[in-house]
Amino acid sequence: MTALTRTAMQRSASSSIPPSAGAPPRDTATTDSANWLDLGELRVCVSGQDPRLLGDQPGLLLLSNPADSHDAIVFRGQLTARRYRDYLLQSASPGALVIVDQPALGVHPDVQLNSGELLALWEPLQPYLDTIARLRRIPLLGSDASRDAVLALVKAHTRQSNIEARWQSRSDQPIGYPLISSTPDARALLEKLADDGLLQRHFFERLHQCGHCASAQVFAREVCISCGCSDLTEAPLVHHYACAFQGPENLFAADDGLACPKCKKMLRHYGVDYDKPGQIVSCNGCQKTMSEPDVSFVCGDCQHETRGDDSPTHTWHSYSLTADGARAAAAGCLPNRQSKAGSSTLIELTDFIAIGRHHVDIAARCDRPLTLVALYCESRESQSLMPDRRGRFTDFLARLTCEAVRRGDLVTRHGDVVIACLPETARADALVLVERLQASIDANVSDEVDTQITYIEGDEIKAFLDELA
Ligand SMILES: [Zn+2]
Ligand SMILES: [Zn+2]
Ligand SMILES: [Zn+2]
Repeated sequence: MTALTRTAMQRSASSSIPPSAGAPPRDTATTDSANWLDLGELRVCVSGQDPRLLGDQPGLLLLSNPADSHDAIVFRGQLTARRYRDYLLQSASPGALVIVDQPALGVHPDVQLNSGELLALWEPLQPYLDTIARLRRIPLLGSDASRDAVLALVKAHTRQSNIEARWQSRSDQPIGYPLISSTPDARALLEKLADDGLLQRHFFERLHQCGHCASAQVFAREVCISCGCSDLTEAPLVHHYACAFQGPENLFAADDGLACPKCKKMLRHYGVDYDKPGQIVSCNGCQKTMSEPDVSFVCGDCQHETRGDDSPTHTWHSYSLTADGARAAAAGCLPNRQSKAGSSTLIELTDFIAIGRHHVDIAARCDRPLTLVALYCESRESQSLMPDRRGRFTDFLARLTCEAVRRGDLVTRHGDVVIACLPETARADALVLVERLQASIDANVSDEVDTQITYIEGDEIKAFLDELA
């Protein structure tokens, strides 16, 4: 067996994820399957066609603008990675169920339906109601740098799926991740999430790279151990019992059969005069014979050759969500956003009122500044924010506010309003803090909502707290 065939055999034994190993904790809240009634109207966005062409479907609200929140997106006409990416950039619901009507290119949709099924979506969507229910519990995803990472976690969580590695052709990378196929440099992103403890790695493949340009488009070949030439011939090895000479069969070729090139005797009977104990490789460049040629890699991108021993490797993994990963997915943001140093935590309204009154007293007695900021989210178009999303959006707004304020500031939630109490802070200073918060909101929240901000200062504060109580 040559080095290359051995490598090939090792390769074919590559593992897939054992079903139980490192399986993500299942979402206990979804043990009861979602049903249509729990979910209410399903919001389906249609891309590439007027949604009205899908007819009037009971229980479904068909939308055309992906900036309006939706449960599923239907792509009419071929879906490509580029088209999906464009959708993600504008989408209020980037984790939405992906439905296509023809085979997609470079994207792995959740469902492929024919035109008839698209006219009665109720039926084919039934198996996905749990996924939709999980998606609805996740806060709006931001549009900041972490969005791709959060989306990867959200996709795995809502589909209750591992992020499986798969071989792929016609791509710059030999291995891809269908679940997040449109993500640029998915491997680096997933490795980072694994380093951060949000994903668990499962070995998939170890591949060689070009030693010159790190490309994975390398072609493995067997080469002569002496001159490095790949012009090799594999032939049966002949062993002459009488003189113990061994060599490739062609050296024994004679007019009337086989003759030993060493002792010149004729080899008449297999098993009596000689046998063939295996294969031998000979180099047509330098005539050297060898039992095992070397392996080297030629790069398809830069044409550089890298000898096997010098070739760097990449290990590819599939991934499953860890408990922390599932939590981050459910929260719709990465954990470092949740626990930034100096940030505050959300407190109960009653505590907020009590401590707030205490600060009012201090401010009055010592003539210190004090400002309250109330934040309220409103949908840009009054119809476009689903009622259950409003609550989750407020949670998200509360979390962003906790991050933006300083330690010692108070943050609470009253219905859909988030309130921050900022001791030792005049309105002008509060503005700075609110600007920082506004930037964070803009980076993290889709365009479908506007955040209303109100400042409360001086005597108004006491009255405001009394009203809350
Ligand atoms: Zn190269
Ligand atoms: Zn011989
Ligand atoms: Zn050679």
